[in-house]
Amino acid sequence: MVLAGWLLKIPVLYQVFPDLAPMQFNNALCFLFLGLAGIFYTQHSPRLHLVFSSLGLLLALLTFIQYPFGINLGIDELVIQTQSIVPTAYPGRMAPNSAAAHVLAFSSLMLLVCNKEWCIRLAGVAGATVFGMGIVSLAGYAIDLEGGFNWGRYTQMAVHTSFGFVVAGAALGVTVIPKRMRIERARFSLWPYVLVLLATVFFIDLQIPQGVAVGLLYVMPLLASWYFNNRRNILITAVFGTLLILLDIQLAEGHLPSGSITYNQTVSVVAVWVAALIFYYLRSVVDRQKEADLKFKLAVQGTTAGIWDWTDVSKEEEWWSPQFYNLLGYQNNEIPSTVSSFRNLMHPDDIDRTFMLVDRHFTKRAPFLIEYRLKHASGKYRWFQGSGQAIWDDDGNPVRMVGTIIDIHARKLAEQAEHERSVELQQKVKELEQLTYVASHDLQEPVRTIRSFVDLLIDYHGDELSEEPQQYLKFIHEASERSQKLIIDLLDYSRIGTNKEVTTVDMNRICEEVLADLTARISDTGATITHDVLPMVEGRETELRLLLQNLVSNAMKFIRKDTKPNIHIGLEESDTEYIVSVTDNGIGIEEKFLERIFVIFRRLHSKSEYEGTGIGLAHCKKIVETHGGRIWVTSTLNVGSTFYFSIPNNHRHA
Ligand code: ADP
Repeated sequence: MVLAGWLLKIPVLYQVFPDLAPMQFNNALCFLFLGLAGIFYTQHSPRLHLVFSSLGLLLALLTFIQYPFGINLGIDELVIQTQSIVPTAYPGRMAPNSAAAHVLAFSSLMLLVCNKEWCIRLAGVAGATVFGMGIVSLAGYAIDLEGGFNWGRYTQMAVHTSFGFVVAGAALGVTVIPKRMRIERARFSLWPYVLVLLATVFFIDLQIPQGVAVGLLYVMPLLASWYFNNRRNILITAVFGTLLILLDIQLAEGHLPSGSITYNQTVSVVAVWVAALIFYYLRSVVDRQKEADLKFKLAVQGTTAGIWDWTDVSKEEEWWSPQFYNLLGYQNNEIPSTVSSFRNLMHPDDIDRTFMLVDRHFTKRAPFLIEYRLKHASGKYRWFQGSGQAIWDDDGNPVRMVGTIIDIHARKLAEQAEHERSVELQQKVKELEQLTYVASHDLQEPVRTIRSFVDLLIDYHGDELSEEPQQYLKFIHEASERSQKLIIDLLDYSRIGTNKEVTTVDMNRICEEVLADLTARISDTGATITHDVLPMVEGRETELRLLLQNLVSNAMKFIRKDTKPNIHIGLEESDTEYIVSVTDNGIGIEEKFLERIFVIFRRLHSKSEYEGTGIGLAHCKKIVETHGGRIWVTSTLNVGSTFYFSIPNNHRHA
């Protein structure tokens, strides 16, 4: 418009107010170049951007250097003759401050293209300075102070030029900010802008130290400092502002009655500090909130749980986190997040249970923790663990409820399979026990008959028979005796654990009784048996006695012919269990048999070597295990063995 004004000779377009300085032709040309370069910058056309910014820079720079060097390059009136229209110090030449501002603006635009940190920073500072120069000039017009728009006795910066610089400078400064944030990240700070603002305000303040409290303008940089990363910088800005206000007093000394200066500046300092403290406080509130929001956001993003928020329990709407949708196989917000849509997702068998629990949570504040099935996007139901917490108003009415869902499908399936397996196993064990019991019970009868009739045969007809048949009868007699013992042992074995009655058993007494029962064997073998003080345990007395008796008799039995048994019954305790050990100096057991000897009917020796049925240790194992303990052995061949069994220490737990 200004260019058109010059060309068509319409003064209102280049001058605005008849008694004020015009915007010179070249100045308008610079603005045109600046605008075009700006457009090509945003359109990513680097070549055109470079063409227009260098043209503008050249024109502004050449114009500017004419002032200090006192030369005339003949560029001022290259296109248009202005002499006849407005009289200025140099006809057609733009003001030095305008030229300087243009140099800065074009430099800023050119620096913007370069991606180096210092370039971007400089671009921002240059842009902000252009803005500051525009403000200073505009302020000069507003309060009628020539110093604002007029440098020395040269041409003045026109009012619309000043406005142009405010807009262009702000645009440049603001364009840089996102770029700087990207490059400098956390180190980005607004200091250059705040300093330019402070300097601008200082300049204005310096020009007008009258009773008007211009110092109030220092609140402006404080506003900018709100956007500092660190809120402490708000206070530092206030300190700078205060220093500048005090400096202004020094400079104004003597020009004005000191009373009005003091009044003006005191009001300014108070205003600056009140504003700074309010901003500081507000910023700390906002920062805290931001921090809390960030924590919540990170928690929501990071957790594998889906989060739901029933913001108002009297309404249908809920909020579901992206992970909530994800767990159900949906995209974020793919289905409405409402109570009824949640109810629709739930397995019909789980609905009543769940909502009853929600109700109990609302009314009785009972914990809300439940496992339910939800329909996955695939159409299949999956198991989830749901939990939640409500908040209540002062009257005890629930207001809001927030909770989570966790996918427990895999665990649930494994649990179900495990449960089915264990039921099946228990069934099998029961069947086997019954079979053993019935078989051994029924076997007893025929064996007893065989035995009685063989005995009768021997008693009544033994003398009539020759030696060979007599021998045969003796073998039958012995075999049937062994079978009978085996059957009785087997019956005993199948009965272990069927008697569920548990009492507190004094193992010391049990030990004494066992030793008393074995007196004959002890004196026959010349055994020495010692024992530690044994504990009181919870268990079935008869079985525990059998356990100890089996271990002690084995210790006396499996001994070399020429050695006297030396046996010790020991005790170790831990927090959870007692461990009783029976140590002997017997024949020992080869390592590879250490496990096998606990299997029923497994023996390592022939009957002629050491008699027995091979059921004793199987008995021991079953007794220990039905008492919740373990049994094991350590042994060195030809040196001796130690049998250990553990019994849970229920007393200590109780
Ligand atoms: P049995 O004593 O009727 O043979 P057990 O079940 O009590 O049956 O023992 C199984 C096997 O374990 C025994 O035949 C024996 O070989 C071995 N054994 C048991 N106790 C000892 C021990 N204290 N020292 C060495 N071997 C042992």
